[in-house]
Amino acid sequence: MKIGFIGLGIMGKPMAKNLIKAGHELVVYDVVSENVAELVTAGATAAYSSREVAMECKLIITMLPNSPHVKSVILGETGVLTGAAPGTILIDMSSIAPIASQEIEKACADKGVRMIDAPVSGGEPKAIDGTLSIMAGGDKTVYDEVYDILMLMGASAVHCGDIGAGNTTKLANQVIVALNIAAVSEAFMLSTKAGVDPVKVFDAIKGGLAGSTVMNAKIPMITEGNFKPGFKIDLHIKDLNNALETGHSVGAPLPLTAAVMEMLQMLHADGYGQNDHSGIALYYEKLSGTEIRK
Ligand code: NAD
Repeated sequence: MKIGFIGLGIMGKPMAKNLIKAGHELVVYDVVSENVAELVTAGATAAYSSREVAMECKLIITMLPNSPHVKSVILGETGVLTGAAPGTILIDMSSIAPIASQEIEKACADKGVRMIDAPVSGGEPKAIDGTLSIMAGGDKTVYDEVYDILMLMGASAVHCGDIGAGNTTKLANQVIVALNIAAVSEAFMLSTKAGVDPVKVFDAIKGGLAGSTVMNAKIPMITEGNFKPGFKIDLHIKDLNNALETGHSVGAPLPLTAAVMEMLQMLHADGYGQNDHSGIALYYEKLSGTEIRK
């Protein structure tokens, strides 16, 4: 099948490559030409705008940073809707505000384009392995139609509800991940300051109730002082911003999310925005003047 793929960053590149490996013909676009070139080397065809992708393909996947990027790629002057034929399916796999998914889907429906939101969890390693967790929202018949394609990129996919429900689920996921990294950082700073080797603490507690996928992924990075992204602090600021705005609009106060947001804001202001979100540990390291290292 001919599939359009727009947004070839940390996540989009391996996801697109997995579709090529499964035998699909890909037409790709990104504003960064090096990213397009890498996919062309892997077997894809280059397009020079989102419109061109839409003119070539009846199924289009987007994997972009945030709501404004998706709006510009879909609704913009040379966007998908200026080239898409009625009946085209759009799967937006970016993590964006649920309200933006709803607005974009409405504009798509007006042009006869069917859209679902299908953000992912799992990060770059799982994007490479094709084992992402996918959470989708929108018309269930569209979801069923593209399920097999989703499962070439993911190990699981769940239809969570109407359009935007995928991104609402993703916001819940991002709140849990951010708060978990902060909790792990705070606890490991306590044990480090008290003189216990963080590697021993990790080995001792990872199998108990405090253990988590987040701890397993992030403590090895923190103890090695490796904050290469991964998932960037600036992207997590974007997600918590969307979570706080959504929380306020539905009447769900998020006091812990607000506190971790300020930690991320401090790191951004101090020049760490492009570091991995495991860098929340750096906030604690700056507070106490001690590093959590093996
Ligand atoms: P990224 O910044 O590495 O990639 C985004 C890509 O979109 C870039 O290559 C950029 O050039 C391209 N782009 C931006 N504007 C564009 C436009 N107008 N037209 C065409 N291309 C454009 O980000 P990422 O880490 O790949 O994340 C993508 C999405 O997936 C984000 O919403 C993020 O929150 C989510 N996500 C990321 C991870 C992770 O671990 N990195 C995990 C789960 C979900």
